Amino acid sequence: MIVLLVDSLMPDTLEDCIRHRTAPALQFLISRGRYWPNCVTVFPTMTASVDSSLLTGVYPDVHRVPGLIWYSPEEEAIVNYINGWKCVRKLGITRCAQNVLYSLNEKHLSKQTTTLFEELDKLGVSSASINAMVHRGSRKHKIRLPFLVHLATGFRFRQDISGPDILTLGAMADTKIERHIPARLRRGGQLYGINDSYAVSVLKHLIQSGEQPDFTLAYLPDNDHRVHKSNPAHAESSLIQVDKHIQSLLDTFGPWDRALEQNIIIIISDHGQTRIGRGKQFNIDLDRLLHSFRVLQLGEHVAGHELIVCNNERMAYIYPLKPAIEPEVIEKLVGEARIDLIAWKEADGVRVKEGGSGREVYFARSGPYMDMYQSAWDIIGEWEVLDLRTEGSRIHYGDYPDVLSRLYGALYSQDIPMIVITARPRYEFKSRHHPTHLNGGSHGSLHKYDSFIPLIVAGTQHPVKEPPRLVDLKHFVMELFVHKVAAP
Ligand SMILES: [Zn+2]
Repeated sequence: MIVLLVDSLMPDTLEDCIRHRTAPALQFLISRGRYWPNCVTVFPTMTASVDSSLLTGVYPDVHRVPGLIWYSPEEEAIVNYINGWKCVRKLGITRCAQNVLYSLNEKHLSKQTTTLFEELDKLGVSSASINAMVHRGSRKHKIRLPFLVHLATGFRFRQDISGPDILTLGAMADTKIERHIPARLRRGGQLYGINDSYAVSVLKHLIQSGEQPDFTLAYLPDNDHRVHKSNPAHAESSLIQVDKHIQSLLDTFGPWDRALEQNIIIIISDHGQTRIGRGKQFNIDLDRLLHSFRVLQLGEHVAGHELIVCNNERMAYIYPLKPAIEPEVIEKLVGEARIDLIAWKEADGVRVKEGGSGREVYFARSGPYMDMYQSAWDIIGEWEVLDLRTEGSRIHYGDYPDVLSRLYGALYSQDIPMIVITARPRYEFKSRHHPTHLNGGSHGSLHKYDSFIPLIVAGTQHPVKEPPRLVDLKHFVMELFVHKVAAP
């Protein structure tokens, strides 16, 4: 089985490509398999939280990775897993390497959950992770940082990291596969080998050398960078480039049909993107909005501050360090009409207010209402805030798919007081030292633009739980291997 995780792949773009016949490989997989345009991803719609759910099959309240950027009270520090591995210059390579390469997998991802790689290993199924951020598994691997990075870290990075049988992290993991990768890709290159060409070339080598494991997850990040810069409505040219990589992968098997005789191939995305407006007003400046509070700045110590802001593009976590200021902070946020939702923990549930209007709704687990994912809820207040409708006791989601489980999952990913905010469509949050994307694309929120992803399953007719969610993919993969459906 091969799972290709294509960053920022969106259903609309995929369908444009199919209509224009510009993505023959994806078209082939759809025509020979099954396709869903309405698979729902995890919130925050950021790679770190999404990948953690993909590998563990649970939401952040269970796997405990809150997002790409969040505050850890144990470490008294803001954790940043590198926005697309790119923040290196801002936070320093040591902190970033430490967070992404080690802490995410070995410390932050809860030991109470097991990853797909760990469970496959127990079944005796071999597996590989190619360039994915979350890769915890039963084997230990050596990290070998490229020379310049190594120099910058002062040679301090010594830990082994865990992964499945085969692990690559671009040029950073010390694997025997490396010498088979073309030299131009190997020598650092774009983002130390965290790119599509590198990932596909590793996968092709595994297939050609007869070393392809039973299960392979490969992460293709390039599409995300391109969609951020251009604009989600014009993402077709970017997806055409991704499709070329998938074509060359299918070519490895000879006729494309043979690829599906020998493999189950799954294509999934981690999140969508929302088009951001052109003018400066489309950036909601959180430093300015919250200037009356003592907000922790990058590099400062927590002591003496009132508030920590962790900006995840179209969502942010805001941590009031003193309980007394929480109502005042919420009032400030609710007064900003460009903020879509403001949510926080209350009793065992979640209180949500709408930015501008201040309309509110409260929900908690178990209750008289049931959603299409078989979760039961109690909901009190103005349902319109979350665009919920009911038919008898049945909940229907509108602009915010699977919003109850997803918002709950984010707020209960940590036990400390925290406020979640999301930006309205076309807007994103701005903070010092964070990338913004005026006239481009951005993601992070609960809105359907960021949340609906395509799912393609080819090479098996095994039933997929519908409507599909990214969080349910692990269970699907396990079912196939437990029932040996995937065995050749
Ligand atoms: Zn992105």
